[in-house]
Amino acid sequence: MESPTKEIEDFENNSLKYLQADQIEKIWLRLRGLLRCLVKQLERGEASVVDLKKNLEYAASVLESHVDTWSFDVFTLNDASGDHALKFIFYELLTRYDIINRFKIPVSALVSFVEALEVGYGKHRNPYHNLIHAADVTQTVHYLLLKTGMVHWLTELEIFAMLFAAAVHDYEHTGTTNNFHIQTRSDTAILYNDRAVQENHHVSAAYRLLQEDDEMNILYNLSKDDWRELRALVVEMVLATDMSCHFQQIKAMKNFLQQPEAIDKPKALSLLLHTADISHPAKNWNMHHRWTTSLLEEFFRQGDKEAELGLPFSPLCDRKSTMVAQSQIGFIDFIVEPTFTVLTDMIEKIVTPLIEEASPSGLAGFRRSSLNNIPSDSKRSTVRGTGSESGTSLNCSISAVDFKTFKSTWNEEVHKNREKWKAQAAKGINANIYTCT
Ligand code: AMP
Ligand code: ZN
Repeated sequence: MESPTKEIEDFENNSLKYLQADQIEKIWLRLRGLLRCLVKQLERGEASVVDLKKNLEYAASVLESHVDTWSFDVFTLNDASGDHALKFIFYELLTRYDIINRFKIPVSALVSFVEALEVGYGKHRNPYHNLIHAADVTQTVHYLLLKTGMVHWLTELEIFAMLFAAAVHDYEHTGTTNNFHIQTRSDTAILYNDRAVQENHHVSAAYRLLQEDDEMNILYNLSKDDWRELRALVVEMVLATDMSCHFQQIKAMKNFLQQPEAIDKPKALSLLLHTADISHPAKNWNMHHRWTTSLLEEFFRQGDKEAELGLPFSPLCDRKSTMVAQSQIGFIDFIVEPTFTVLTDMIEKIVTPLIEEASPSGLAGFRRSSLNNIPSDSKRSTVRGTGSESGTSLNCSISAVDFKTFKSTWNEEVHKNREKWKAQAAKGINANIYTCT
């Protein structure tokens, strides 16, 4: 096996920014090999700190070139990083948005905290609600913020709150639904009086990590006001990932969009996180199919428990009779597509005035608009051009926002996925998802 250091030297001789997509893919594959090798060396206690640092910097630069894409392959990153996709994504994004400097987050606390999150995500060995899902949702939130220009509407604190909420939003998920908790009268259901049972737990348990161990407290240096504002946003966003809020959330936002008033920021951010949470049917087929297989397996395991307990099967939980393809078409038509449509309309309403203001004929520069409750320039976020030494630059200018491309990207994927499920439904491939590929 080639030494990691040799790989780094090769890489450094080939600055990423000049590479074409297929070359980037090669680097990506090499990164996988490199990280696997590094993980093995670490396990054997062989890697030196210098090698470790170089390899992590290399990983960061490769990540940087991928993390801005819609169908980002979080599974490959997870394999490559020895099951640490969440750690890599969270660290990379907090660096990228300059959150670590701005909020004086101790790096050792950040590493300890995100590692503790990863342990919590592994607690119940869920096929779907695990650290890869958390990493996926965090990366998707980043894509949505960056590519739609929403990032220009937000303060650094709000961006931090969004990334934090995404990272913790399913922490210590039990692999069962809220209704299962309620029916089985679980401790968590009793604790939270049957209301948003797991969501309450995710956010509460994540805050307890910070509170109970200063070594993990990434919010240690926040002012009282910042701490309160961040907490209020995180609680609201994570609670709104409860699917039982879905229809109300969509209806309320549609109503909002008809009104002339400014859009309520916490509501807008909640919709963005909720959309990222159910976005896999709008990703490429390989991703979507893999997520669906994992989620259905998680549901079926709940069904097995329900059968053991003599409870009726919950929807999609009976592994013998669930109509997988039909259920996915239903999920896409009734949940995913309407959510993306409302999100897109909301974003257009928010970002269009910002684009107009920034255009040469608009107001000078990029001034505060009283209509949309835009933060003052001094607080508005800036995205750092580079998170590491690679020199990859990030095009985050408001003039680079392209709604058409964003709309057509998710629309095309949703359409293709729906057609694939329809073809499977027509072939009568229903009962067992493992026969569908
Ligand atoms: P969360 O549990 O926070 O990840 O919220 C997302 C919820 O959306 C999941 O728990 C599922 O109930 C639902 N969901 C996501 N993907 C699918 C899918 N492919 N089919 C049916 N339900 C889904
Ligand atoms: Zn989730």
